[in-house]
Amino acid sequence: MTQVTLHDKTFDPYLNEATIQARIGELAAEINREYAGKQPLFIAILNGAFMFASDLFKQLTIDAEISFIKLASYKGTNSTGTVITAIGLDQDLIGRDVIVVEDIVDTGKTLAEFLPKLQHHQPTSVRIATLLHKPEATKHPLTLDYVGFSIPNKFVVGYGLDYDGLGRNLKEIYQLAENA
Ligand code: 5GP
Repeated sequence: MTQVTLHDKTFDPYLNEATIQARIGELAAEINREYAGKQPLFIAILNGAFMFASDLFKQLTIDAEISFIKLASYKGTNSTGTVITAIGLDQDLIGRDVIVVEDIVDTGKTLAEFLPKLQHHQPTSVRIATLLHKPEATKHPLTLDYVGFSIPNKFVVGYGLDYDGLGRNLKEIYQLAENA
């Protein structure tokens, strides 16, 4: 792996393809074991999680379903600031075992706002699978059930994650260079 430049920024190699895929295999094995005999519904959050969701889903040996949603935030009419709404959440979740698939948990704000909304749909259970987690940046209390990699509080791109639209197609994950 070598450095990549996206727009005006340089990124250093951080996690290579084999490392990412091996870890996804481990997460899938855990899920296969823990959901044996069940039929979980994966809800993957676009755009960033598409690649992780796809590779994780391919490694499942249990019966499972997948649905993709997009989260949009808009200014609420009250003082709560921005409100998150899920676009494409059209499935009946009553009685379902749901696994939310995220690319990265940074401050945790996105999930902290989205999870209570998901609970309104009365799923039996909700767990979270995230490829990346920045523990130092996370401000909202969240239980992350399946974490690919805990990483430092630095901006990363690749493997579905973008910098201003670019970098999602990279098979590896790169970290913003110190002197970028
Ligand atoms: P949170 O709500 O947890 O603060 O942020 C979640 C979202 O912020 C992620 O789904 C992702 O879109 C974006 N994000 C946070 N950290 C990074 C990062 O290091 N790189 C990229 N490309 N996006 C990030």
